[in-house]
Amino acid sequence: MALVGKNAIVTGGASGIGLATCRRLARDGAGIAVWDIDEAGAQKVAAELVAAGGRAVACRVDVSSRAQIDAGLARVRAELGPVQILVNNAGITFFKPFLEVSAEEWNRVMSVNLNSMLHCTQAVLPDMLAAGWGRVINISSSSAQAGSARMTAYAASKGGVIAFTKSLALELAASGVTVNNIPPGFVDTPMLRASDSSLGGGIAGVAAASPMKRPGRPEDIASACAFLASEEAGYITGHTLSVNGGRYIA
Ligand code: NAP
Repeated sequence: MALVGKNAIVTGGASGIGLATCRRLARDGAGIAVWDIDEAGAQKVAAELVAAGGRAVACRVDVSSRAQIDAGLARVRAELGPVQILVNNAGITFFKPFLEVSAEEWNRVMSVNLNSMLHCTQAVLPDMLAAGWGRVINISSSSAQAGSARMTAYAASKGGVIAFTKSLALELAASGVTVNNIPPGFVDTPMLRASDSSLGGGIAGVAAASPMKRPGRPEDIASACAFLASEEAGYITGHTLSVNGGRYIA
């Protein structure tokens, strides 16, 4: 129960990696704000955490909308209190040859995957700075580390997340707030399953080609989040913690 007394916002918390992270941080004692564009999904997760004895609130927040972020944060502060942990996890993807990518598709991915870092982090950071303690954990992607054909917009947005992480970490280093990112490899979530037909050989093909011969589990990423959120990780900042079963080794 390393996070008792702390509150965490997990964006995209209704599904996949975000859902596993909500469950894990709640198990560690944190109050959880489940933020998602899928309101019913977020409510279901929050209800599960409360039924298990935790503190949780669900908010419908589109992370590309500053107005929705500000409204969600006001609710979280009122119902849980100040926020010390932010997991910037919500993300979207699509597969297309570069020449067919429209400006609208490019901008939507940037808006959800990258601009959300600006809006969510700027909104929540004052609580952390006031407390002299905070953890910002950004979910990037091994696609940005290794490159990924037919995923130019997605990989570019996630490369931006890694650069943003390093730069903000330096800016906040003396404040007690750490900023790190986790680039997952292939993780078995609804997003990956929706991409099955776009992956060479599907999920089974990806698993067969991977060093550990299996896709990641959402819990694999959640446990890395729990570590980075913990007191023990207080001297780690600006770091890229690859959780990918050996898919990409820097
Ligand atoms: P997921 O299962 O699709 O879950 C993402 C959640 O975010 C969904 O509930 C989704 O709602 C929500 N969401 C989408 N757009 C949103 C928005 N604008 N505002 C708020 N919530 C929004 O995906 P996942 O696989 O867990 O991915 C989580 C993160 O890990 C993403 O950033 C992704 O890029 C990254 N990642 C995943 C993998 C992988 O293999 N799974 C690999 C590398 C990186 P809807 O379902 O209603 O859209």
